[in-house]
Amino acid sequence: MRTAARKVYDKKVQRMGKIVIDENGCKGCALCVHACPLHLIRISERINPKGYYSAEFVDREGKCTGCTLCAITCPDVAIEVYREKRKVGGDK
Ligand code: SF4
Ligand code: SF4
Repeated sequence: MRTAARKVYDKKVQRMGKIVIDENGCKGCALCVHACPLHLIRISERINPKGYYSAEFVDREGKCTGCTLCAITCPDVAIEVYREKRKVGGDK
């Protein structure tokens, strides 16, 4: 009983996130670029139908935590954030 409970507490929970940017709804203001503490958003070289260079999410190492700062900052509500929790370790 005690061993089982300890196993549960030994597991670490890692918070993973990802965002989806609606490129067509983006006006390229770059507020999200500055808002992301992990520098995972940049202004792309693509021009959207409105004539703006839109933001793009670049997270090759899976660093996004899903903190939502980018989405909260976006004045055009063009960012959706997805989060999941993964248990890592503790099963040795
Ligand atoms: S959710 Fe947070 S970590 Fe992920 S891209 Fe947005 S600001 Fe960056
Ligand atoms: S804050 Fe919103 S509108 Fe501005 S660049 Fe980022 S996604 Fe585009």
